[in-house]
Amino acid sequence: MKNEVVIYLAHYDHLGTDGLGGVFNGADDNASGTVALLEIAEAFMMEKKNPGRSIGILWVSAEEIGLYGSQYFADHPLVARENIAAAINLDMVGRTKTKEDEASTRSGLTIQGGDSVKVIGGLQSKVLMEINESTLAESGLVGNYKYNNLTDPNRYFFRSDHISFARKDIPVLFYSTGTHRDYHMVGDVEESLDYEKFLKMTRFCYKVGLNVAQYSGSIKVDNPMSKW
Ligand SMILES: [Zn+2]
Repeated sequence: MKNEVVIYLAHYDHLGTDGLGGVFNGADDNASGTVALLEIAEAFMMEKKNPGRSIGILWVSAEEIGLYGSQYFADHPLVARENIAAAINLDMVGRTKTKEDEASTRSGLTIQGGDSVKVIGGLQSKVLMEINESTLAESGLVGNYKYNNLTDPNRYFFRSDHISFARKDIPVLFYSTGTHRDYHMVGDVEESLDYEKFLKMTRFCYKVGLNVAQYSGSIKVDNPMSKW
């Protein structure tokens, strides 16, 4: 078990500038996931007890132009692929649904209100899905699985870095508070983050990885994506 690694990942690239002087700050997409990983790393460093499996923290680039960073890592992993017990992706974990989101005319927005979390993944491994569900319950969060399928027209299952790992039959979980009215616009700024939700999300993601790392059985892949 100690040879196995639970990998957390988040992309740290965004969209640059709009050519008119506007900066795409990407506070939610994905500075939120990027700094959540720093906090999670620090929390693991402070754990007195060895969790069993190792923890890997991976920041990837070139997500926005085609998931290239995660694809490169999945093609050239630093640890043997069979030793990657699970990959947990954080992409946009810092906002909550507001009245402005409700009034927005943009289509396909998935921003979650209250204690709801958009969950994608868990389909490859019953054990991983169970750990996800029990950790949501212990964290006071509610999973929204509406987008967790291959046929959803928004194709969120394919649109972030976890998919690079899933394609290698590594079981994945992807957490997000969802796409909002400022998604991929210059309005994705720090002032629009909901720090209470952001903290709750970060703590929850930490606990999921801890529970996976501590799980005494194997994180069995009973439904590999290569067979879908
Ligand atoms: Zn993103």
